Amino acid sequence: EFHKSKGQHILKNPLVVQSIIQKSGIKPTDTVLEIGPGTGNLTMQLLETCARVVAIELDTRMVLELQRRVAASPYASKLTLISGDVLRTELPYFDLCVANIPYQISSPLIFKLLAHRPAFRAAVLMVQREFAMRLVAKPGESLYCRLAANTQLLARCSHLLKVGKNNFRPPPKVDSSVVRIEPRNPPPPVNFTEWDGLVRLCFSRKNRTLGAIFKTNAVLDLLVRNAKLVQALGLGKANNASNATSGLEAMMAADGDGDGDDGMAADDDEEMAEATTGTGSKGGKASKEERDQVREKAIRVLNSAGNYEDKRSAKLSNEDFLALLAAFNAEGLHFS
Ligand code: SAM
Repeated sequence: EFHKSKGQHILKNPLVVQSIIQKSGIKPTDTVLEIGPGTGNLTMQLLETCARVVAIELDTRMVLELQRRVAASPYASKLTLISGDVLRTELPYFDLCVANIPYQISSPLIFKLLAHRPAFRAAVLMVQREFAMRLVAKPGESLYCRLAANTQLLARCSHLLKVGKNNFRPPPKVDSSVVRIEPRNPPPPVNFTEWDGLVRLCFSRKNRTLGAIFKTNAVLDLLVRNAKLVQALGLGKANNASNATSGLEAMMAADGDGDGDDGMAADDDEEMAEATTGTGSKGGKASKEERDQVREKAIRVLNSAGNYEDKRSAKLSNEDFLALLAAFNAEGLHFS
């Protein structure tokens, strides 16, 4: 009686468990965080190789089963088992995160990990294959998306291992992959809410030119509203100086409800309406004059920052987005 809603697919193949352990680069002194240990197939192997495991599990039946299993082993004193929802739990210190995670919380979980301080060395996570491919996609590749741009701003991501669905009980509908996520430390000096605001707009139609996106009334209205807000609050410069984790935790808090809606769907084309109303203050149309003024400014920024008017988000690197964001902000245009 496994719970599909909790993403319970137990990793049955010990060779896959071994392979994950080998690829994790665990040191004997490490504290390892495991999310969703389930019945403990991975946990028992982790306990053999590191100093301490902290595991967070939502299902109390699993917690009890794992407690029993560990009590019968020599490792009981190395395991701290926390019963609860990882998205609502304050994370303890950890060096590495190694886990076969519930797939429906992949995106909020990764951003929660990346917001955690002090930064950990690496996370080695089993995720859905398609999610893995989007996570590691590079500009110009078909799966390149908001998730890739955001995660790769904060971390180096690589694909480690393909795992077929038959290695699990019950087998999930989709294949899986193990990925490695290494936080950039220190994080890049950019406000993450601003960054995500821009990236989100740009990927709302990733195959449209930026020129076309920044001529859309909904986008212009958003820019007018944000500019007014920033002016009224006297923010501006202070906003630019903060680093990538500012805003990240706020976004997590807003996004981390664990309902599986990570706002980073593969089908970014449907997100235009949401992207333009989702951040900043809601509603409110700008006047024609205000729109004209902001449109002109935005197009000027696109061209002065490097011929971006005719480019498409699908091909923009993180360096491009960083340059664009700095240029927009310098002109008083904001995305959050
Ligand atoms: N790690 C085990 C293995 O490899 O065999 C089980 C992995 S299973 C894919 C995901 C596990 O995460 C399940 O045990 C499930 O109960 C747990 N889980 C689901 N949602 C969770 C949440 N929000 N917080 C913590 N654990 C959760």
